[in-house]
Amino acid sequence: MKIIYTLAFTLILIGSTFAQVKPASESAMDRFLRYVKIDTQSAEDQNTVPSTKKQLDLANLLAKELNDLGVQNVRVSEFGIVYGMVPGNLADNSKVPTVGFIGHMDTSPSVSGANVNAIIHKNYQGGDIVLPNDKTQVISVDKNPDLKNLIGDDIITADGTTLLGSDDKSGCAEIMTMIDILRNNPQIKHGNLAIAFTPDEEVGGGIEKFDIPGWGAKFAYTVDGEQLGDISNETWSARTATVTFHGKNTHPGTAKDIMINSMYAAGDFLANFPANAPNRPETTEKRVGFVHPYSSSLSEETSTIKILIRDFDLSGVAAKEDLLKQIVAKTQAKYPNVKIDYESKLGYLNMKEVLKDYPQLTDYAIEASKRAGVTPEIRPIRGGTDGSNLTARGLPTPNLFTGGHNFHGKLEFNSRKGLEKTTDTLVNLVQIWAEKSK
Ligand SMILES: [Zn+2]
Repeated sequence: MKIIYTLAFTLILIGSTFAQVKPASESAMDRFLRYVKIDTQSAEDQNTVPSTKKQLDLANLLAKELNDLGVQNVRVSEFGIVYGMVPGNLADNSKVPTVGFIGHMDTSPSVSGANVNAIIHKNYQGGDIVLPNDKTQVISVDKNPDLKNLIGDDIITADGTTLLGSDDKSGCAEIMTMIDILRNNPQIKHGNLAIAFTPDEEVGGGIEKFDIPGWGAKFAYTVDGEQLGDISNETWSARTATVTFHGKNTHPGTAKDIMINSMYAAGDFLANFPANAPNRPETTEKRVGFVHPYSSSLSEETSTIKILIRDFDLSGVAAKEDLLKQIVAKTQAKYPNVKIDYESKLGYLNMKEVLKDYPQLTDYAIEASKRAGVTPEIRPIRGGTDGSNLTARGLPTPNLFTGGHNFHGKLEFNSRKGLEKTTDTLVNLVQIWAEKSK
């Protein structure tokens, strides 16, 4: 075991700038296996951050481990956010911007994360992976083409009854192991590094409590992506529209010539939505945005329909708003007695709107991946990330891979190579920031 690990580590470091890098005191794999045992499932619709107290179990453990690794200013905030600072080891640290790394501690509310029984499929030789405690749960080569790249690797899965928690305990383990390697290798030069572990990423809300000025990073990375090499500097630009239909209600027994039932207008409005691409989530993929009615309330007096508007480009968002307004106008013409109001509000902005001014964040991540022997690929996220929020608030934050797959479900997996190559990428990345900022 020890020999295999040292060997794997040596292989990873071939091609790295420093041939004589000492390994971490504890592998990313061992850290990961410890973190996934702690149930940190977050919950929707709570008024507190963190949404579940049990997330503090991991927060307190990570804070202790940061302290044990000599990280400075370690604190757990009242919202369960763990902060710390790894001091730079340069002659003048002020010449290199403070770069932040963020992993999230919670797991998705959609599948249980209690009593996770991680299984290591050693020296994977191809084929489907059947999860032992629910044989209907199968990680198939068909649906997971990346499995072909993992021959000979040790694949980590849950047992079929829970999610694994790779999202995002992989990110937490990788960041922690990066700190460990830097501590063991003072010859690796880097600037100040801000470290944070956040709660409630899966339910939103946690990141709003994030103390950007107190943390001190000028740029940051979330380590929360999927397969090795995936780097994301784009998310949706998101708006939510609310269309309200005002009718008039009265007792149905005496309603003749008085009642105006808003529900018919609402139904007409929905019926006028274009059925084909490129307008609906169920007919779009890749860079194509959509409009998506996702919730409604219907009654005679007042009906409302809520609609997601998603596009990578602001011009695309504007075009979709125009489309919605045209549909409103069409319905209004047909139902002149129903007053129809349209309003929309901004959800979040595509981080590219900001990150395009800081191309070095992505460029350095690409370079760091290559040095780790990983083929980088820029992949836009058809959603938002904690980085969308931070970027909009002035802290440019793209997203890096973790090696994980199949987030939020029982088929979630990562691998030893996934964890180690990501860790190696992070170690390279902090060096590159120091090299380029001289
Ligand atoms: Zn995540």
